[in-house]
Amino acid sequence: MTKPFDTPIFVTRPNLPSLDELSAGLAEIWNNRWLTNRGPLLERFEARLAALFDLPHVSVMTNGTVALELGLQALKLTGEVITTPFTFAASVNAVVRTGLTPVFADIEPDHLTLDPARVEAAITPRTSAILAVHVFGHPCRVAALEAVAARNGLSVVYDAAHAFGVTVDGVPIGHFGDLSMFSFHATKPFHALEGGALTYRRADLRAVLERLANHGLGADGDVLEAGTNGKMTEVQALVGLLMLDRVAAIMERNKAIASIYRARLAALPGIDCLAPPAAGVKVNHAYAPVLVNPALAGIDRDGLYDALRQRNVFTRKYFYPAVSAMTAFRHLRAADPLEGANQAAARVLALPIYADLDDDDVHRICDMITAICRRQAA
Ligand SMILES: *Cc1c(COP(=O)(O)O)cnc(C)c1O
Repeated sequence: MTKPFDTPIFVTRPNLPSLDELSAGLAEIWNNRWLTNRGPLLERFEARLAALFDLPHVSVMTNGTVALELGLQALKLTGEVITTPFTFAASVNAVVRTGLTPVFADIEPDHLTLDPARVEAAITPRTSAILAVHVFGHPCRVAALEAVAARNGLSVVYDAAHAFGVTVDGVPIGHFGDLSMFSFHATKPFHALEGGALTYRRADLRAVLERLANHGLGADGDVLEAGTNGKMTEVQALVGLLMLDRVAAIMERNKAIASIYRARLAALPGIDCLAPPAAGVKVNHAYAPVLVNPALAGIDRDGLYDALRQRNVFTRKYFYPAVSAMTAFRHLRAADPLEGANQAAARVLALPIYADLDDDDVHRICDMITAICRRQAA
């Protein structure tokens, strides 16, 4: 057996700003005595994100889930929202918690994103929107989805929680659809401890979103529409600002790790990386998912997960189970048999990838996977 790691290797490890930079920033916040409720660091953070995304409108919030809920609310959606079962539960939680009904449609095999043709087939008179997820940072087929939406008078919302820094033909991913949600959770490609943001082009949404994130309170203390507490703190904004200086280097490092996995695993039958990005697409390499085909690999996904765990490598079955199979969501309508999503959920395994994972360790993980598959095949 390949020698197990002495200390556990997890699927991800949060990137951190330096403690010196952090304490200098904290000194500024302490000095301001302005801790939350749209303070100066938050304003700076929003402005820097808007410049980076090349968009006039970015609203940061306490986390991505609340951002998504408020985005769905602000668009005044009704009835059914067609979405993917191959995502993190938060995407579908947000739909349900906004009083909308998720309807599941299947995904495409290349990048496990929502299939525009399946979406079109799922539309009913009650459908008001498409919620598509740029899963693992691979963009959905945005042009095809938006053509379906335009033909049928639907809104398009993207869950871009995985997609910070992704561009399509040079256009930042937050430009597409009516709204995009980014998550700045500690384990995401870019983070602010916890946090999230919405990007959009409609200028009138800004005041609506700021009000909804502040309990729905109007200037005179009245509430016209129920809101919530979605406010980002100054400490979160500080961490976000510091991480913005590092995100390009982190993405470069992740790209190098992803290319080792791709090169090494190409030689292994039944351990398949996702298709390379389409021409013109720049991804962030924040995740390293593989699909395990048991007929070719000689082992199934759960077997590989267990064998790696015995060697102190903690991968993740991400996303398993499919959201459509979860207890809270099983009763919801699926527009088709969801074969692609169910197969992906049964086969997917996210391998470790984070900026301070050494090349040697990535090779060692690949050695382990190779040895595990060979032994099963023998
Ligand atoms: C992390 C994640 C979210 C939720 O974001 P939070 O900031 O953790 O609330 C939503 N959708 C997807 C696909 C995610 O991975």
